Amino acid sequence: MRYDSVLQAIGNTPLIRLDRICGTRISAPVYGKMESMNPGQSAKDRAALYMIEQAERKGRIQAGATLIEATSGNTGFSIAMIAAIKGYKCILTLTDKAGPEKQALLKALGAKIVLCPKDAAPEDPESYYSRAEELAGTIPNSFYLRQNWNLDNSGAHYHSTGPEIWKDTEGKVTHYVCCAGTGGTLSGTARYLKEMNPDIQVIGVDAYGSVLKKYWQTGVFDADEIFSWKVEGLGKTIIPDNVAFDLIDEFIKVGDRAAALRVRELAQREGLLLGYSSGAALEAVFSIRKQLTPEDVVVVLFPDHGSKYLGKVFNDGWMQEQGYLKPNGEPATYSVKH
Ligand code: PMP
Repeated sequence: MRYDSVLQAIGNTPLIRLDRICGTRISAPVYGKMESMNPGQSAKDRAALYMIEQAERKGRIQAGATLIEATSGNTGFSIAMIAAIKGYKCILTLTDKAGPEKQALLKALGAKIVLCPKDAAPEDPESYYSRAEELAGTIPNSFYLRQNWNLDNSGAHYHSTGPEIWKDTEGKVTHYVCCAGTGGTLSGTARYLKEMNPDIQVIGVDAYGSVLKKYWQTGVFDADEIFSWKVEGLGKTIIPDNVAFDLIDEFIKVGDRAAALRVRELAQREGLLLGYSSGAALEAVFSIRKQLTPEDVVVVLFPDHGSKYLGKVFNDGWMQEQGYLKPNGEPATYSVKH
């Protein structure tokens, strides 16, 4: 492969079979879609590139523009990478839930960072959404990508992630398991796959403390569902336009502890260093294992790489502080059941 810039290296990520973890415990073959292998180490490379290039096509971005986004980190990294190539400036608002590694990565690519309190309600002027709006309103020649509401986010996955999974499973995929944050990765991919085969089961993954599953069940936004959780990128406290609720056949909530233990298992047993939400996605596969047969083919999407989480889930001290590990390294007060 030879590319003109890093942008051409985005997408075409492999599917990797997870037989060491799933082989004896799940009857269907399970493949991980390795979005960590994008050049920016996450699925957000696809969404950011598509949103920016659609904005260019629509004349919304002029030379030297400032790109603005509210992001848990990954979208910011992708925007900063693309801004570097295309000569744009980049300002990112993020919550203080994003760890120091994520912040350092963004700064390394030349992005300016505005840190906002993680527990501020979206309408609070201090929230990372409000701060991004404010910056977009005051900086001339700026473009706020709005990944939660910009449907080019899911469009990216409709045009790339979905077709790749269809082609690489030779149309045999029966279950697609994917985290929901903005919903872009889940919805765009699911829309393509269901167009190819409406019987494909789409399993969304949500966090306890997020409003998405309850909204999917009831159509009602329930603020009482909200409390803080640890898995970055997973779940929401708002309802983004990019979550296509009608495409989701099952929605599974996964807790911080189960996700942490699973992602460590992925590293230790499959040799795959992945982000915290990848552990949540794999845990959701275990939740549906009883409905799976050897004829099924499961694809679980792994949103990002584990290098950004060395201070958290891959740090034994952090795991012990959360009560997830005993000092001897064994899982505390809980064992992975499956
Ligand atoms: N996991 C991680 C680590 C993420 O950064 C994101 C994106 N915020 C997601 C999951 C969810 O992806 P999406 O926004 O496409 O729903």
